[in-house]
Amino acid sequence: MLDIKITKTATPKAKPTGALGFGQHFTDHMFMMDWNEGEGWHDARIVPYGPIPMSPASTAFHYGAEIFEGMKAYHVGNGEVKLFRPYENAKRMNSSAERLCLPQLNEDDFVQAVNAVVNLDRDWVPTDPGTSLYVRPFMIGDDHTLGVHGVHHAIFMVILSPVGSYYKEGLNPVSIVIEKDDVRVAGKGGTGYTKCGGNYAASTRAGKKAELKGYSQVLWLDAVERKYIEEVGSMNVMFKINGEVVTPALVGSILPGITRKSCLEVLKDRGIPAVERRISVDELEQAIKDGTLEEAFGTGTAAVISPIGKFVIDGKEYTVADGGIGKVSQMLYDEITGIQSGKKDDKHNWTYTVK
Ligand SMILES: *Cc1c(COP(=O)(O)O)cnc(C)c1O
Repeated sequence: MLDIKITKTATPKAKPTGALGFGQHFTDHMFMMDWNEGEGWHDARIVPYGPIPMSPASTAFHYGAEIFEGMKAYHVGNGEVKLFRPYENAKRMNSSAERLCLPQLNEDDFVQAVNAVVNLDRDWVPTDPGTSLYVRPFMIGDDHTLGVHGVHHAIFMVILSPVGSYYKEGLNPVSIVIEKDDVRVAGKGGTGYTKCGGNYAASTRAGKKAELKGYSQVLWLDAVERKYIEEVGSMNVMFKINGEVVTPALVGSILPGITRKSCLEVLKDRGIPAVERRISVDELEQAIKDGTLEEAFGTGTAAVISPIGKFVIDGKEYTVADGGIGKVSQMLYDEITGIQSGKKDDKHNWTYTVK
């Protein structure tokens, strides 16, 4: 149990009005906690949201010592606020921390920190359908030396941002370009299975190139053979081929998404066959050509399900089935958002009441 000291803001901000967008507004408070080798985690506190003083020599700036998580808090009616599978985020943060030699956090402490700051700012959780409070826990290494000797000081923080509905008028298929030049810094043995800022830094160039051509995201191939499909931008990816859902196996280079895991569990509940295995871009291209690719979609906290209407392979555009929204994509979206918003039976106990 953390002993969290709370300092409330003397100047609460006005809540945003109009379209919220993503990650543009921040609430009144944030959670902070420090770590060093002698004391471990200490000084857990909630303070007014604002800039933090940093040494220009901090490891976070020079050597990319940074990991993060992404989750959402939902207003489910009658002032009740719920998180979705927060212990999964706690576990994944520790797995990222282990890879980057950052200190691990007790899972209960992680959830307690998130719960406490969301609870304090609970009137910032938007109530319109599809909206939520995005929760961004993150950790940085903060040694004040340019020598590279591991992490001896770290900071864990949680900031909160009310976000709008990803889809204004229901699910919306996107176009995805298959990237054959850049790879993520995510080969086996690398950091692909972690949520670290460095992965994103390395993926920016391909993302920008795709955006300039009017495509929404990049589909990454494995860094060794550039042959096997990994994931799509900041989402995992699934295909329905010949009645079976196929998703790339978690071989160390792919982020183990909580939405991915939840989708696989819902598919199992529904008796829809689903396998985790390697899938090559050639197999995908063949399935498009012979008409066996029935659906393709991304999975992630932000959009939950993002149907893919079109792939671009070597500059050639291919439409997935009729380019619309597949039945399984729609079912998974309805089921998971239904549980998150308290409208559907939460039989797996995935939601966590903020109090
Ligand atoms: C966060 C993330 C995902 C999706 O994970 P969820 O837990 O489902 O939100 C997928 N890929 C990458 C690279 C990510 O950073």
